[in-house]
Amino acid sequence: MEAKDKKRCTAIILAAGQGKRMGADVQKQYIELEGKPVIYYSLKAFQDSEIIDDIILVVGSEKEIHDCSKLVKEYHFTKVDAIVLGGKERYDSVWQALKVIQDGRLKVKNQDGYVFIHDGVRLFVDGDIIRRGYETVRKCKACVAGMPCKDTIKLVDEEDCTVQTPERKYVRAVQTPQVFETSLIIEAYSRLMREESISVTDDGMVVEQMLNVSVKLYEGSYENIKITTPEDLEIAKVFLYRKK
Ligand code: C5P
Repeated sequence: MEAKDKKRCTAIILAAGQGKRMGADVQKQYIELEGKPVIYYSLKAFQDSEIIDDIILVVGSEKEIHDCSKLVKEYHFTKVDAIVLGGKERYDSVWQALKVIQDGRLKVKNQDGYVFIHDGVRLFVDGDIIRRGYETVRKCKACVAGMPCKDTIKLVDEEDCTVQTPERKYVRAVQTPQVFETSLIIEAYSRLMREESISVTDDGMVVEQMLNVSVKLYEGSYENIKITTPEDLEIAKVFLYRKK
């Protein structure tokens, strides 16, 4: 990649969820693994990637803004330009971060670059995944990390009866980072936030539904798991141990 061609890239790292499925006192993004909170590992991957210029961290409370500011200083995460409060749903949290970009509140404006939206609880994101996202978005405007499903997937009805079994070669398990042209994702979310009833579970869906733009899948990693339930923590410990 020629440096002169490089477009500005902002990462939005989401850490405003309550993590009810974990059933722990501490939210999953702050649970400690190998002596550091889960969110540390995601921040570190984006800090260390030469693709990423700045980071917006989205958290759930004023206290978390305070605690995360300390973490950012302690580990020299110099790319973190803003720490903002999220909202009730994941899409509210994304919107709060996109408004920082839209309103020109970053030190350097990102008008015609790219935005990487990442779940802070996917701590095994790495430089290779970020690079693949960048290379794909430059060609396709909108892309999401994903992996072929190892299991057969069934679509079911309210009674848990199969209504369809998609051919496995066409099924992907979707991850983050999800990467978009800045203007495209801001336009898609601006339209979404004007809707009366919203049911989206990822950013790719927002672009597909609001703008009718096709979203490309790029290769994530089977290690790029999302910490959701207690057994995910056990798996994460094994992955971290292996990396040591
Ligand atoms: O709840 P789920 O596992 O889908 O959350 C994915 C990511 O989105 C997590 O990193 C979580 O902290 C974040 N999130 C958020 N604001 C919310 C809900 C989730 O930033 N209101």
